[in-house]
Amino acid sequence: MAEEEVVKRRTMNLERARLFGRDKERVIVFICECGDSGCRETVLLTAPQFAAIAAADELVVHPHHPITAARHRVACSRMVTSE
Ligand SMILES: [Zn+2]
Repeated sequence: MAEEEVVKRRTMNLERARLFGRDKERVIVFICECGDSGCRETVLLTAPQFAAIAAADELVVHPHHPITAARHRVACSRMVTSE
């Protein structure tokens, strides 16, 4: 399902940030986290930019993509677990 796809992609992106993020100026190719298993878009960010998005509970989504339902589900589940 879409949630699993989002988690899988986020895991891969975290790994990329860890591998390539030592140089904070370096632009890293991240995978779009929109949750569509057919999506092959990438997003170019530096490690600090990615970290800021992750810290804000946002998803790394290609700018041409609309905000998906997956993002809302992630946000809702976070709210439930934090209470
Ligand atoms: Zn996408």
